[in-house]
Amino acid sequence: MTGNGRSDLPPAAAGFDAVVVGAGFAGLYMLHRLRRLGLSARVFDKAAGVGGTWYWNRYPGARCDIESLAYSYSFDPDLEREWNWTERYPAQPEILRYLNHVADRFDLRRDIALSTTVRGATFDEAADRWRVETDPGGEVTARFLILATGCLSDAQIPAIPGLDTFAGDRYHTAHWPHEGVDFTGTRVAVIGTGSSGIQSIPVIAAEAAHTYVLQRTPNFSLPANNAPLDPAVLRATQENYADLRRRIRQSPLYFPVEYDDRSALAVPEEEFRARIEDHWERGGLGIIGNYADQLLSEAAAERVATVVREKIRAKIDDPAIAERLIPTSYPFGAKRLCIDTGYYETFNRPDVTLVDLRETPITAIVPEGIATTGGTIEVEAIVFATGFDAMTGAILRIPIAGRGGLTIQEKWAGGPVTYLGLAVGGFPNLFTITGPGSPSVFSNMVPSIEQHVDWIADCLTYLAEHDLATIEAEESAEKTWTDQVHALGEMTIFPKGNSWYMGRNIEGKPDGLMPFAGGTVLYRQICDGVAAGGYQGFTLS
Ligand code: NAP
Repeated sequence: MTGNGRSDLPPAAAGFDAVVVGAGFAGLYMLHRLRRLGLSARVFDKAAGVGGTWYWNRYPGARCDIESLAYSYSFDPDLEREWNWTERYPAQPEILRYLNHVADRFDLRRDIALSTTVRGATFDEAADRWRVETDPGGEVTARFLILATGCLSDAQIPAIPGLDTFAGDRYHTAHWPHEGVDFTGTRVAVIGTGSSGIQSIPVIAAEAAHTYVLQRTPNFSLPANNAPLDPAVLRATQENYADLRRRIRQSPLYFPVEYDDRSALAVPEEEFRARIEDHWERGGLGIIGNYADQLLSEAAAERVATVVREKIRAKIDDPAIAERLIPTSYPFGAKRLCIDTGYYETFNRPDVTLVDLRETPITAIVPEGIATTGGTIEVEAIVFATGFDAMTGAILRIPIAGRGGLTIQEKWAGGPVTYLGLAVGGFPNLFTITGPGSPSVFSNMVPSIEQHVDWIADCLTYLAEHDLATIEAEESAEKTWTDQVHALGEMTIFPKGNSWYMGRNIEGKPDGLMPFAGGTVLYRQICDGVAAGGYQGFTLS
């Protein structure tokens, strides 16, 4: 038994209806739905506690940048009413407490094996069952294999020469020590200025003796304007959560946005500026879904960027540092927008140094610190805020063999191929929750997860009612779908950014937009249509 969960569950000798990999938002809700269908299930997670992303990412300042009231489960009205979020944007400990509460409240732990890694899975065609190899625990079998492995869960440390020679302490934001780190009196280097870096840098800088921020590509960041949640707002929402959920479901991003269906280029200057400034004042991600063509036209994105750049510039005392921090090499929104608390202001501190890796690239890690073409940065600690092998990394880590021994690694060698981001041809009865080819990271993840889990649960009900053993994506359907995902991507500004959306942060990873860019509303209609049509594009047997 571990601190907040179980690791010593005996594997059921026979097998389960379903095995779920991952005990984060997706795995927990999937287990709950499977139970309600009367199916036996086992969830495996290599972590020692539930929570997924929110179990691992404990770096200083870790916080969700979707508002707490929207970043929560909608499936149970009592849960909605009884959980009292305390801040506009929930901090990591609060989200982890919430997920532990969910695990307890719905008595989920008895079917979750923690500290257990899924080492591989093979589809046994004679038995129509998945053989799943777990460590510890050995083999279990299941009719359905459901991957709730998360989109951003395969943390990456770049292969910089000399990495292991460093004499100090080394951390990755996604593998933060549970006991925390005290940087008092320490010189710290942070590599990476994505969401994790931008959130953690101000907190680390407030503690460390000196902080060096090593930036390769600057990011656009808007102020979070985080604050305690107004108890009156909380109460009003709890009394009428349905209204918020309806607005979420109607939004293509699955969080409420004030959408303007004009082109950003068609709006008079004064009105345009006032709207962007209003977004800046209010903070948050709503600015992404602002104008109709903002994610489609570079010129539209540039008009937004022009105002945002001014806002950023105004926060930084030294104009030369400001120019280094302001993004110019890709359209606004083509890389994931960041939300911060005091990020740009941090560079006004005398004990913070910005190192622009475009001018002085890293050459090696050395015992004293980080060697760059501009000299060696001597530090006692290095924080890698260097991100993840996103969307496919956590799936491809598991050797998974489908029909005829074809592995998912072979199947996806040229990039992920899925039907609806939910299923893969050649891999019967396997589902990917928020898999590549679904809106997932282009949306508020929790409602997207719920939509997938509900769709899968309905699908399993359909199979049972029709006495069907397997469901499998047809190769023609998944090819058409994947081509559409790419074609949609080509219509957007996303290919103009060197982002993890495109797989470009990982050397050798196939290039291509992985999430579905058509929005959650259209996507949900498509999924519902496929189901209503008797699971078109799937072979049922
Ligand atoms: P990320 O966005 O991929 O950022 C990684 C950073 O490391 C980038 O600045 C990248 O530079 C840099 N980097 C990578 N390899 C490098 C190398 N070899 N040398 C120098 N710099 C290197 O990762 P992340 O910040 O962990 O965020 C990932 C995603 O997680 C976010 O986009 C967001 O979706 C999610 N997230 C959300 C929250 C939230 O809700 N608040 C918080 C954290 C993360 P380049 O840009 O040049 O590649």
